[in-house]
Amino acid sequence: LKTLRLILGDQLNHKHSWYRNDDADTLYFLAEMRQETDYVKHHIQKVVAFFEAMQGFAHWLESRGKQVVYYPLDHPDNTQKLGSNIAGLIEQHGIEKFEYQLPDEYRLDQQLRQLADDLSIETEAFDSEHFLTGRDELAAFFADKQSLLMESFYRHMRRKHNILMDGDKPEGGQWNFDESNRKKWKGEPEIPHEKGFRKDVRKTLKRIEDAGVNTIGEIEPERFSWPTTREDCLKVLRYFCDTLLVHFGDFQDAMDPEQVYLFHSRLSFAMNSKLLHPREVIDAVIEHWQQNRKRISINEVEGFVRQILGWREYMRGVYWREMPGYQRCNRLRNNNDLPDFYWTADTKMRCLHHAINNSLQHAYAHHIQRLMITGNFALLTQVHPDQVDAWYLGIYIDAIEWVEITNTRGMSQFADGGLVATKPYISSGSYINKMSNYCQDCHYKVKEKTGEDACPFNSLYWHFLADKREHFKDNHRMAMMLSLLDKMDKDELDALQKRARLIIRDPDRF
Ligand code: FAD
Ligand code: SF4
Repeated sequence: LKTLRLILGDQLNHKHSWYRNDDADTLYFLAEMRQETDYVKHHIQKVVAFFEAMQGFAHWLESRGKQVVYYPLDHPDNTQKLGSNIAGLIEQHGIEKFEYQLPDEYRLDQQLRQLADDLSIETEAFDSEHFLTGRDELAAFFADKQSLLMESFYRHMRRKHNILMDGDKPEGGQWNFDESNRKKWKGEPEIPHEKGFRKDVRKTLKRIEDAGVNTIGEIEPERFSWPTTREDCLKVLRYFCDTLLVHFGDFQDAMDPEQVYLFHSRLSFAMNSKLLHPREVIDAVIEHWQQNRKRISINEVEGFVRQILGWREYMRGVYWREMPGYQRCNRLRNNNDLPDFYWTADTKMRCLHHAINNSLQHAYAHHIQRLMITGNFALLTQVHPDQVDAWYLGIYIDAIEWVEITNTRGMSQFADGGLVATKPYISSGSYINKMSNYCQDCHYKVKEKTGEDACPFNSLYWHFLADKREHFKDNHRMAMMLSLLDKMDKDELDALQKRARLIIRDPDRF
């Protein structure tokens, strides 16, 4: 054997050109490693999903006649570290060349560069052939611009890839249908049950438990529900097109205490592990829409395409433009601890209880729960972004740093000072009440601002604005809020701030 090719757990791209070329002399290598299970405390379903997907991928390679070494966690030769595992295989098999795909995380990028430098044999890095943009494409696009406006990048992507275009005009006459995508879900239309799977993952789970990996969250190992093979991912995509797309845009921002997924696709793991390519997801959705134009309106499709062609590629570009500094930014100087209830869901605030409980049970919360419930509360209580990041990076099935940190530090916590979000995503209880069905049965009263029964988000919101006023004084998108703050009666503001401080001091009491 001459060449050793590394495949990381999030590089399970069946369509990669590696597998089309002559590779008779090549050994493929995948490994479950403690360096990956332990860099943050992950949800058990996330670890299981990655290991299941990696095993499935190794079997697929073998079924195509490839030579594969797979190290489970308990393999006797597994040193649990990338560098020593690779060095060991090079020696064992007399390897002459080491090849890898460019990783998407800065941490692994550094590690692999160092490894390539240290090895005495030839090395080569390849594109992972997954994204629609190169690592530095966003940086080049914004090189001569003042701000990193997602909207302009998204329009550029639409034009460049000729997606939802009618000549040089946007399909449907508008680039953006966000205004139509803000409906509250009031029990109708009916939400189809998610496309689940009842996979038996007991063996994988046992291996993780026997190794003593420290995880969070729950799992039903005899009916594991996430797609971990390409076939299953394609089924979830088909199911999304057939049953969910029709209302995706309308209820994109809706929240309900009984509904885990609403009309969301559950495709983030499939894409982040690279089992599905973003372009094939976009193409499938557009094709389905074109065949069903009478039934599915453009806002549903544009809303979905925007997330993948726009936000997902944008976040990747911001990550590579800003790392490694990004992982340390804390422009609002927030320093409080994350409440304990983020790990238990033990809080009387119904919205938070539900969003966190969802996360613990399913390793999932949809975007608006992440942004306007858990993210909002963490920002309003001024939690240190390191702690917020560690929580988001661990708990979600789809959490990989390039897309987690940009969403968390950037979009949600405003820790980058407004690079990603043009204003902080904060709200009082009234927004949550407008978009969700949480408030009617909550212990707290959403319309009350002070007093024991008042919704905590209300006082926290005004306290945050008052406390961080200096940071936003030149932000025109905050001007209206700040002028309302300035007009507020001093005694009223004092009372609000007093209650907010009480909550911040001991959030777990609420
Ligand atoms: P859908 O709502 O069906 O959306 C379709 C797809 O669009 C998603 O699968 C995803 O690939 C993409 N997408 C949507 N929003 C975003 C976004 N803001 N950035 C990038 N891609 C997006 N997404 C992750 O993949 N990994 C993360 O670790 C992650 N962390 C987040 C942390 C916070 C604080 C916030 C606010 C958002 C985060 N997101 C993350 C983005 C988004 O919430 C998830 O992609 C989405 O909830 C996944 O569920 P879905 O597949 O059902 O998405
Ligand atoms: Fe959340 Fe406040 Fe509504 Fe309760 S009243 S669910 S705490 S927003």
